[in-house]
Amino acid sequence: LYRNPGEAEFHQAVREVLETLGPVLAKYPEFADKKIIQRICEPERQIIFRVPWRDDKGEIHINRAFRVEFNSALGPFKGGMRFHPSVYLGIIKFLGFEQIFKNALTGLPIGGGKGGSDFNPKGRSDSEIESFCQSLMLELYRHIGEYTDVPAGDIGVGSREIGYLFGQYKRITNRYESGVITGKGLGWGGSRARKEATGYGVVLFAQEMLKFQRQSLDGMKVVVSGSGNVAIYAMEKAQELGAIVVACSDSSGYIYDENGIDIGTVKRIKEFERRRIATYLESHSSARYVEGSSIWSVPCDVALPCATQNELTARDAKTLVENNCKIVAEGANMPTTPEGIQLFQSAGVYFAPGKAANAGGVATSALEMQQNASRDSWSSEYTQKRLQDIMVDIHASCYETAAEFGAEGNYVTGANIAGFIKVAGAMTAMGVI
Ligand code: NDP
Repeated sequence: LYRNPGEAEFHQAVREVLETLGPVLAKYPEFADKKIIQRICEPERQIIFRVPWRDDKGEIHINRAFRVEFNSALGPFKGGMRFHPSVYLGIIKFLGFEQIFKNALTGLPIGGGKGGSDFNPKGRSDSEIESFCQSLMLELYRHIGEYTDVPAGDIGVGSREIGYLFGQYKRITNRYESGVITGKGLGWGGSRARKEATGYGVVLFAQEMLKFQRQSLDGMKVVVSGSGNVAIYAMEKAQELGAIVVACSDSSGYIYDENGIDIGTVKRIKEFERRRIATYLESHSSARYVEGSSIWSVPCDVALPCATQNELTARDAKTLVENNCKIVAEGANMPTTPEGIQLFQSAGVYFAPGKAANAGGVATSALEMQQNASRDSWSSEYTQKRLQDIMVDIHASCYETAAEFGAEGNYVTGANIAGFIKVAGAMTAMGVI
């Protein structure tokens, strides 16, 4: 705490992992001898820099940007960039810390990192977004690279922003280094199914959880928070598997459509028009819009929080338990508060943490890197099959590891321990670096 003052989200993420690692240190005393815990909690490198840029009126703005290169024991640092006014060091460090374990769970050779800026893209024109991205890359380029650190998207950073970032990197370095950033467009080095991967992956993970209880998503009522990249494709896959998605949201409120949310409309509003979710009612008059209040009051069998950290509180968890929710799988990073997780676990609601359930996004980013390295482009079917296999493997690894350490059905314990053992093993082998 004294080394990282005022970084509440980082403390929360570290505490959640460390609370589950006691049995691992008892089984592998060498990890304690080599001070793996102390080393894994300290980023290898943290970069904080100024991003000056001009808006359309010529006015100058100054933002702050971050890149936290947390752990490269398994591969180059890998993790998204977030553009949101709430971004500060504590958020980027929590995301980077989580990313270490998530990336390890994928079984692919990627280390953990994260970055972002307190820049608010809302209401900014296309040319302002471009100016900001170019200015940010003018500093970031010297820290990243195919073999060092590979950024991607996150909240506020989609394929448009990745395009501007990659274009500027290419211009500065005079190199077409495709593997330096992921989430690229399909025509210029991107991977098929990357856009869909995180949301699809969450639902595939939830389906595995249900399978273990001899149930399926078919006919289940699903609520998804958010209406961004992760939420949209979680809804799409859930519907494809027979579920009825009745509600989704943005930071202003939620929509409820008992006939099932029309994904095409949500895509149009969010991906193309960039408007508020409330405008869904313009074309679906039987739906309801509820401003401000929590989406988790909507009864459901499966809850998929896909918006942001700490959006699902103890009070929300209590409501979901009372409404007989069976499964919670996190699409966002750390969307459930520690008290919320505790409530789910003690009520017997199966709960999957983001570092396991949303790992499909970064896994497919690693597949994008593979395609870039081999100058190849895989079909959507092949890429989706790989994603599905990876999600099934992550589920099995979490489930089996939890059982091995006496916590069967506890996906938090399973994910933390399975991820930690991989990273700690590599760190031990590489000496005190
Ligand atoms: P987007 O920017 O595409 O969408 C974010 C969504 O969450 C929007 O609907 C946004 O609403 C809502 N939201 C953001 N902040 C808040 C808030 N404070 N309160 C309520 N709603 C909020 O981001 P992504 O879909 O990419 O990311 C969502 C989550 O998933 C994040 O936690 C991210 O870290 C995580 N994630 C993303 C991956 C990816 O591949 N994109 C991979 C793994 C995890 P509004 O427009 O009103 O702000």
